[in-house]
Amino acid sequence: MSEVPKELKLVFDEPKQRVKPPHHFADMSPEERKAKVADLGIPAFRANQMAVHYFTHYNDVPETWTDIPKEMRDSLAKDFMPVLITLVRSVTTDNGKTRKDLWKLHDGVLVESVLMRYSDRTTVCISSQAGCGMNCPFCATGQSGLTRNLTAGEITAQVVAAARACDQGELPGGPTRLSNIVFMGMGEPMANYNAVMRSVRNITAPQPDGLGISARSVTVSTVGLVNGIEKLTQEGIPVTLAVSLHTPDDELRDTLVPINNRFNVREVLEAADKYEAKTGRRYSIEYALIRDINDQSWRADLLGRLLKNRNAHVNLIPLNPTPGSKWTASRPHDEKEFVRILEDYGVPVTVRDTRGREIDGACGQLAAAEIISEV
Ligand code: SAH
Repeated sequence: MSEVPKELKLVFDEPKQRVKPPHHFADMSPEERKAKVADLGIPAFRANQMAVHYFTHYNDVPETWTDIPKEMRDSLAKDFMPVLITLVRSVTTDNGKTRKDLWKLHDGVLVESVLMRYSDRTTVCISSQAGCGMNCPFCATGQSGLTRNLTAGEITAQVVAAARACDQGELPGGPTRLSNIVFMGMGEPMANYNAVMRSVRNITAPQPDGLGISARSVTVSTVGLVNGIEKLTQEGIPVTLAVSLHTPDDELRDTLVPINNRFNVREVLEAADKYEAKTGRRYSIEYALIRDINDQSWRADLLGRLLKNRNAHVNLIPLNPTPGSKWTASRPHDEKEFVRILEDYGVPVTVRDTRGREIDGACGQLAAAEIISEV
């Protein structure tokens, strides 16, 4: 026990009594920001100036905000811009085009985000929770349970940091614009609904109140919490919905995605259909292909029949085995056959690339403890 690295202890030996993360500009709606500014006796236009610094220039260091009087900057820093995430380490691969960042939150909890530059877009994969309570047996994050929900500020901060990295040309290829956000890092977004929605609004609101990224470029991925999908349907923000199905039959899904015992395949797909009907947005079905577990041609056939009349797109993800896992990715010919069967049903299907695999930055591998143990 004496050899437990300090950072690892922070993840697992956290004090039971948590201190709430400091309240941040990005936790508030634009109206709340203005109201708080007014409460502090500061003119309302200062809220707008702060928004421009934070969401247009990705600048969260008030002492550099030269359009604001110096004395006022200190109080704005304290009341609106507390430091929420601190970079512990970045690891890169793909000649620097994929970068995984490990962040420490105010209470020592660790989360990760992954930034990926492609020829036509730059995507950041962000965490919505530290850990995850959904317990899917093939996912690294699921293995250690839920530590805590992230706040909207902490989620937004990952996006702002990624936007800044793009803007400042930190990725090879020169400065670029962050174009896509996927909630596919650690955590189940629908289990932290309000904070996730506040951060989605921060991402999609036009400048200066938000980053001005289009909702269709934001993907919210869920295990299939039907109540969450239903709420999202009512929001009127047409983000891309991704449902982690992983198998078309309840028998196996009860094990692969344990929440299926509460919301089964039929209920999840019906909720996704309603989302599609309301928003007009095609949804994604995420399917990790696991050798001899869910990759049989009869399952592809069942999936094809389930989806052929739905406005859905299948994203096949070759399994990234977690350490010690008895499962592995499908054989290439089984994967091909799976794709062929779905295509025969006219179901659009893509096989996801495995960006970030070497740095444990690929889907389902984001588990802070793992990274730390590599140091
Ligand atoms: N809780 C959300 C986000 C999780 S991560 C959800 O379940 O959708 C995003 C995707 O990666 C999910 O589809 C998840 O099932 C998948 N995933 C998790 N572990 C994986 C692994 N080891 N290999 C491949 N995909 C995995």
